[in-house]
Formats: sequence, C-alpha cells, structure tokens
Amino acid sequence: MKILVINSGSSSIKFQLLQLPEESLLCKGMADRIGANNSQLTYKTETEQIQETLTLNNHQKGLQKIAELLLDPKVGVIQDKSEIVAVGHRVVQGGSLFSETTLINDRVKQEIQAFADLAPLHNPPNYAGIIVAEQLFPEAQQVAVFDTAFHQSIPEVANQYALPKKLYTEHGIQVYGFHGVSHQYVSQQAIQYLGLKQSKIITLHLGNGCSMTAVKDGQSIDHSMGFTPTNGLIMGSRSGDIDQGIIFHLVDKLGYTLDEVNNLINKQSGLLGLTGYRDLRDIETQAGQGNRDCQLAIEMSAYRIKKYIGAYTAAMNGLDAIVFTAGIGENSQLMRASVCANLDYFGIKLDKEKNKQKTEDIQDISTADSAVKVLVIPTKEELQIARQAYQLLQSS
Ligand code: ADP
Repeated sequence: MKILVINSGSSSIKFQLLQLPEESLLCKGMADRIGANNSQLTYKTETEQIQETLTLNNHQKGLQKIAELLLDPKVGVIQDKSEIVAVGHRVVQGGSLFSETTLINDRVKQEIQAFADLAPLHNPPNYAGIIVAEQLFPEAQQVAVFDTAFHQSIPEVANQYALPKKLYTEHGIQVYGFHGVSHQYVSQQAIQYLGLKQSKIITLHLGNGCSMTAVKDGQSIDHSMGFTPTNGLIMGSRSGDIDQGIIFHLVDKLGYTLDEVNNLINKQSGLLGLTGYRDLRDIETQAGQGNRDCQLAIEMSAYRIKKYIGAYTAAMNGLDAIVFTAGIGENSQLMRASVCANLDYFGIKLDKEKNKQKTEDIQDISTADSAVKVLVIPTKEELQIARQAYQLLQSS
C-alpha cells in the first residue's frame, strides 16, 4: 500500500511517499517558501534529485506540483494517482478529542478548524493541506495523525495547571503536549531495542523546538511543553520556562504590547536571544572560539534538561533509558555530553568514544556498567505517520 505523508506548515509542505508494510521510502521532498516568488521545490527518489526555484502562490499550487512530480514519466514513482491509497496528515493540535489516529470526515475537519484557537500557527496550514489533498487525491483515504494524541495519556495530576478549575473544564486550558509523533516513535524503538516489558524512559526531542517526555510502559505520563509549545526547555528561539510575572513586568513597566511579548518569547528568545544565533552548530563553533555567551547558552540548555531528567525520574520512580533524537539530539555530541555529565547519581554514564560515533541506526552511547541506557535514535516522524495510517486502514 502506498501512503503519502504530508506535513503542511504555514509556508511549506514536506512530503514522503512510503510503501507499507515494507516501510520503504519511494520519494521525499519539500515545497518551501510557499506564497513567495522564489519558492523552492526539492524532490528525491533513490536515483533522482530535483531542486527548482519557482513561484508557488499557495498550498494548492505546491501540492499540485508535488503530484505532478510523483506522476512524471521520467522521475515519478507512480503511474496513476489512484495508487496512493491513503494520505497521512500531521495535525499539531487535536485538543482532548483525539487520542488516536483518525479517518478524516467533515466532523473531524470541523474539529481541526475549531482547534485553531489553540494552535493558530499550525492547525490552519494543516487544515489547508487536508483540503488540497482531498481535491488532488479524491480516491485516497485521508488520515489525521495528531501530535497531541500521544500525550492524551498524561494523568490529571500532570496535565492540569493550578488555575481556577473552570479554565480547565470549560476552556480546555491544560497541558496538551507536542512532538507526540516523534516521542512515540523513538520510545517504541527504545522499548523494542532494549527488549523491555515494563519501561521507564525519558525521550528528548531536541531540534529547533525542544521537548521531553516521561514515557512509562509506552505511555506519555508527563511532558515539558504544555498548553502551547512555549513551555519547558530552552529552544532555538523560544524561552521555555520563565516566571510568568516577567510578562506583566514587560507590559506594565517596559511598555511592550501583548503581540510584542508573544513575539519576544517565541521568536527572539532561547538560544537566539542568549547568543544572537539560533542554530546550535554556530553556537558550538563560537563557544569553541571562547565566546562566553555561547558557552553559557549550551550550559543553560543542558542544565534545564538535567532538571527535567531529575523531575521525570522522580515522577516514574526510576529510569531505564534516556533517548536523544532530532537535529540536536542526533548530531550534537557536545549537547549529549553536557546533559549526561555528572548524572552518575542517577545511574547515567556516557561512553565518550561511543558518543563521538555517528550512525543512521539506533546507537547505545552509554558505558557497559551504566544502569541507565543512553540511546541516540533518529526520529522518523513520516514513517510513524504512515505506520499509523496503515494500521488504521488495516483495522477498519
Ligand atoms: P526542526 O525542529 O525544525 O525539525 P531539526 O530537528 O532539524 O529541527 O533540528 C534543527 C537543529 O539541529 C538546528 O537548529 C541545529 O541547531 C541542530 N543541528 C543539526 N545538525 C547539528 C550538528 N551537527 N551539530 C549540532 N547541532 C546540529
């Protein structure tokens, strides 16, 4: 069964076409800078690679162009659109309604639109991707895989804020959590790799956005992002945890508008705010050359992660493994080493040599006598979405 996976963002559509159950990748790519006159289209199969600059006015044009490439006599991988049995859509916010992957119908579309209030930057482009895919692939089943779904298992003790109760019961103000597709995939991989029946795992998704999940027996029981993705770890340009009193100080004393505060916390803070650089590679280079702000930003990021490791180990009353994934987690040996340093009290011991090696596979980078395993697992969110869509179609 061929499944097209679509991750539709505000100005980009990432896609992969996968063959299930073999889990082979037929092609992948991205339409980027949609809406600009220098949109970029990349498309890659096992043998072909295309990179084009063109004008893609909207998501409709972007996905249409992708469909043309899929069908292209020279570089395409299908002869007819009907070969695509399902389109799996990543949807960021499914509120409390969706704890599982769901076939998309009119009601589901309405709900996704309604949840735009909770995820104004993400759900509208996710929704646009669904509408366009329905038009372009009318014979395919459309399936929604929600980033919040994995975190629906977080118990009340961890998913509520200590605010007046009616904000929770009437207005849905609670922890929803994000990056669920990634946390679920890597935790499943870790459980399988370690052959655990009962498990206590902490997954660290460290990319531009960063989040951590406490995963007990395969279920998310706590998570560092909350009502929005702003909470928790220090990220590329998001602050993560701050004292909320700062917001009132910014507005009352320093004259910021609410929009400016929002922009400050989400787009100008984190690594960018601390150093002037958003990309950890630049920060590591600068730190190596003695830039103190960059050195401190790495120390602060690792320190914040350590605090969450402590909290989640307490929440689970133990720990079998921690898993690093995403751009930083998979690639930055410095960040992994900084996080794992001086955690031997918790049974975490990093093997310095193994930490330097890089593979595409699961890698155990802890010492043989480390009570807690430290794993690097490349995240495969598209594969996870395709798997979930496949399982849903098989069972329905
Ligand atoms: P996104 O959250 O946008 O999907 P990624 O998971 O691709 O992001 O992670 C992007 C981040 O990964 C970059 O900002 C960069 O800081 C970091 N990164 C990628 N490669 C390396 C590397 N070799 N060393 C350090 N950091 C890296």
